[in-house]
Amino acid sequence: MFEIRNLTATIGDKEILHDISLDFESGKTVVVLGPNGSGKSTLAAAIMGRPDITLSDASELTWNGEELKALSADKRAKLGMFLSFQSPLPIPGVSVEELLRSALDGKKDPVVLHRELRTLAREIDIAEEFLSRSIHDGFSGGERKKIEAIQAAVLAPSLVIFDEIDTGTDTDAVKRIAEFLRAHLPEDATKIYITHSPKLIDLIKPDTVVILKDGRVAALGGHDLAIKTVEEGFNKIH
Ligand code: ADP
Ligand code: MG
Repeated sequence: MFEIRNLTATIGDKEILHDISLDFESGKTVVVLGPNGSGKSTLAAAIMGRPDITLSDASELTWNGEELKALSADKRAKLGMFLSFQSPLPIPGVSVEELLRSALDGKKDPVVLHRELRTLAREIDIAEEFLSRSIHDGFSGGERKKIEAIQAAVLAPSLVIFDEIDTGTDTDAVKRIAEFLRAHLPEDATKIYITHSPKLIDLIKPDTVVILKDGRVAALGGHDLAIKTVEEGFNKIH
């Protein structure tokens, strides 16, 4: 169980998230929707502990009873939290295979990892060369998102956030990625998808939908709220 209580987040001198309280149960799929600039990516980054985001004293983040606020992003990742960025940055000279070897820190035999990655690449339909090239360097939108999905599959996180995994991906790729994640993410993981894609929402069938507006939770609901909001826009939600 992951709990957010009274989360108020500031970047520089700008308060971006205001008093957000949400519960995320293990094994559930959550969709976060909201207009551009509503604070979705900032919420994801605050959960992961991005160092330039300051949380108010009243803000609480707890993970299975453990207080996360004092933990660095690195420690949160070691606890099993994974964020797939909206625009993942290239790391010249480091391949996804090397990155994963380092993240797994000896927990998986490199030969086993090497084989697993090739199998996953075939399954998600991306050429093997992307596993050994510098990560995200010159990759298309769709290729980046497939490599992000492969990382999530290998790391088997207990809490995973996909920030617009559908952006820059064509319809077939969105379907492929959604099916891949359904097959490979741990069943008891909390899965949070930030998305505007009705196609992705239909494929992942969220248990809970959170609508963010101006850095606040404007509405909570189920699958039907997501579809209605995507169809009718955010103006009807206050
Ligand atoms: P969304 O992901 O919902 O489109 P963001 O979380 O990216 O929204 O942004 C929310 C608000 O915070 C926007 O007004 C944006 O300009 C602002 N913001 C995001 N990052 C920064 C930053 N590093 N410095 C200042 N303002 C920021
Ligand atoms: Mg965003």
